Amino acid sequence: MSTDKTPADTTIGFVGLGHMGGPMAINLAKAGYTVHGFDLVPEAVEKAKAEGVIPVDSVAAAATGADVVITSLPNGGLVKKVYDGAEGVLANATKGALLIDTSTIDVDEARASATDAEAAGLTHLDAPVSGGVVGATNGTLAFMVGGRDDVFAAAAPYFDVMGAKAVHCGASGAGQAVKLCNNMLLAIHQIGVGEAFALAEKLGVQDQVFYDVASAATGTCWALNVNCPVPGPVPASPANRDYSGGFAVGLMNKDLGLALAAVEKNGVHAELGKAAGQIYSSLNETDAATKDFSVVYTQIAEKSGVVKGGSAA
Ligand code: NAD
Repeated sequence: MSTDKTPADTTIGFVGLGHMGGPMAINLAKAGYTVHGFDLVPEAVEKAKAEGVIPVDSVAAAATGADVVITSLPNGGLVKKVYDGAEGVLANATKGALLIDTSTIDVDEARASATDAEAAGLTHLDAPVSGGVVGATNGTLAFMVGGRDDVFAAAAPYFDVMGAKAVHCGASGAGQAVKLCNNMLLAIHQIGVGEAFALAEKLGVQDQVFYDVASAATGTCWALNVNCPVPGPVPASPANRDYSGGFAVGLMNKDLGLALAAVEKNGVHAELGKAAGQIYSSLNETDAATKDFSVVYTQIAEKSGVVKGGSAA
C-alpha cells in the first residue's frame, strides 16, 4: 500500500481546491508529495498552483496514476458525481489506490462510497474535518475517520500533514456519524449560550459577570468559552469582529440538515436538534448566512428586546 512510499515518490490526486481543499492540497505539496489538483473554478486552481500543486484538467487526470485520491467537495451528490462514470475516480484510479473523502456528507452516502470503492479494487475512508479554514491552512485539522483499521493506518502520513489529529471512529460512515452528532450538539450549545446571555442581560447581569461564572461552572462549553457570542469576554471570538470568519451559518445549516435526516431515518427523539435545525434554517435565509453561527445570539437578543451596553428593554 502507499505508506511504503516516501513523499517524493507518492502522487496524490486532489479534487476540490476550495476553502478547505485548497490549503490541504498546498500543505501536501509543501510536504514533498506530488499533488495533481483539479477544481471546476480556475481561480481555485491558480491559487493552489502558486503554492506547488500541479494543475490537471479533469477528475480522471487527477485519479490516473495516483496512489491516493483526496476529495473536498460541497456535498454527497458531488462526491458521487466525482467518483462515478467513465471519467470518475473509481474508473480511473489505479487498483489498490486509497481514496480519502474529507467532505461532510450523509452517513449512508459515505458507506455507499466505500462499498463502490471496494468493488472497484480501491480502499476508502470517510474523513470529515473540524477546524475550519484556519485549521486547513495551518495543518491543524481534526479528522474523524471511518473505514478499515489497515486503511486508516495507511492514511496516517497524509493526516499527519493536513491535520493535528485523526481519530479512527469505526467502520465506514463512522467518521461522518461522529461529525454530524458533534455539530448537532454544537448548534444546540450555541443557541443555549445565546439564550442564557439574553436572559442574564434582561435580568440586569453584566455579560462579563455571567461569562466569568458560567465558564467556570456547569454551563461551561466551547460555545461559551471559545466562541462566546457576545463581544468582550473572549476577545478572539467572532462576536468581536461582527461575527466574521469562523464557521458560517450556511455550513452549520448544511450539517444540521444531514444530522436531522439521520435523526428521522433512525427514529431518534431529538427535539432540541430539530429546534436548532429550524433556527439555523431561518437564519440561513437572512443576511447573517455567511456570518459565524454564534450570530444566532443577535437574533435572540433582538427578539428579546435586549439593548446592548448593559441595559435591557
Ligand atoms: P468550497 O465550496 O469552498 O470548496 C468546494 C470546491 O469543490 C469548490 O472549489 C468547487 O468548485 C469544487 N467542486 C465542486 N464540484 C466539483 C467537481 N465536480 N469537480 C471538481 N471540483 C468541484 O467548500 P469548503 O468550505 O472548502 O468545504 C468543503 C467540504 O468541507 C464541505 O463538505 C464542507 O461541509 C466541509 N467543511 C468545511 C468547513 C469550512 O469551514 N469551510 C469546515 C469543516 C468542514
